[in-house]
Amino acid sequence: MKLVFASNNKHKLAEVRQILPVEVEVISLHEVGFFQDIEEVGATLEENSALKARVVWHWLSDNDMLSGVDGVFADDTGLEISALGGAPGVRTARWAGDDACDINNRQKALKELLGVEDRRARFRTVVSLILNGQLQQVEGIVNGCIALAEEGDGGFGYDPIFIPEGYDRTFASLDTHEKNAISHRGRAMEELKKIVQ
Ligand code: IMP
Repeated sequence: MKLVFASNNKHKLAEVRQILPVEVEVISLHEVGFFQDIEEVGATLEENSALKARVVWHWLSDNDMLSGVDGVFADDTGLEISALGGAPGVRTARWAGDDACDINNRQKALKELLGVEDRRARFRTVVSLILNGQLQQVEGIVNGCIALAEEGDGGFGYDPIFIPEGYDRTFASLDTHEKNAISHRGRAMEELKKIVQ
């Protein structure tokens, strides 16, 4: 089975390829020749993830490439911090500004929670899969809390400041197998696996 993953993020690609069975070939956007930027204008993770999957599906269709693949999937992830009423949520990628990088976003999170005792947070991923022209969505959640300072040099994004429930280390301190077993994306991909199997 060949599935196009509507992403070029090498960390995500590695995680997803590790989770899905080897029979599922995961193809990146660059590998199919898609080089456009998809603007995430949706108001929810559900809308943005569906939007990305649909744009790529239509592009493959317009370029007569649908016969070579079985489906398209896209993910959208939000960090939801309890003390901030679920922010940054759908704005997670651009929280510190439109040109913000991961470090800026992490610094913003630490600053917003300075002196705040309730550090509970969760990651939520929504995956949209278009298979046989039908859209299906699955979700994965991991609860945890925001660390007091950055720790670890693995992973990406907010990993150095997110401590999953039941652990005393951040995602960035876990190896990818450990992270995948409990992460939001790992859990959403397990649900996706049930559909494609
Ligand atoms: P998106 O799903 O690519 O839109 O990601 C939204 C934001 O969440 C970006 O800032 C990512 O860096 C961050 N993010 C997504 N997945 C993870 C993860 O597994 N760990 C840490 N940050 C993540």
